[in-house]
Amino acid sequence: MGPVGHTAISTVVGASIWGVTGSPLAGGVAAGVGVLVDVDHLVDLYQSWIRRKTHLVIVPFHGWEYSLAGLLVLCFGFYHPVFLAVVIGHLSHVTTDHFHNRLTPLSYFVLYRVWVRFDARKIAPGRDSAYFHHNLTSFFPFRSLWEPWYLRKVEPWFTAREHSTSEDVVIEPNK
Ligand SMILES: [Zn+2]
Repeated sequence: MGPVGHTAISTVVGASIWGVTGSPLAGGVAAGVGVLVDVDHLVDLYQSWIRRKTHLVIVPFHGWEYSLAGLLVLCFGFYHPVFLAVVIGHLSHVTTDHFHNRLTPLSYFVLYRVWVRFDARKIAPGRDSAYFHHNLTSFFPFRSLWEPWYLRKVEPWFTAREHSTSEDVVIEPNK
């Protein structure tokens, strides 16, 4: 799910947390965490574009483990409204992605992704790695204003880069 969907859902979650805890700060934190979990896509973009490892799904913040650990801590009696907000904001993000993106059942466990060495073919079978790396436009607002320009000027460059592996690179001999 892109940022617009996450923002909409996180706004509702944030308002609910504010209502339940009585803390506007906690509400803001829940909404913020619900959107900002996606900054970890930068890790995958870095791997894909700079290091040319296009078959990885890393997204380190996307993991049920964090939510579960947070819920356990809450169950064992540590309570603070902002901590609750972080846990619920994160949980709502991972839950939304899990049901919206429909990868394999374990894909949103970090430990599973480590186990399969972040291999996109196991984590998201049948999805082209381009699915992860070329849907960049959905991450930014006001898409209709700039997307035609992006598709014309920028994406061909990324595509060319991903399709040229290091072996394909022709090095000009020194003259
Ligand atoms: Zn996400």
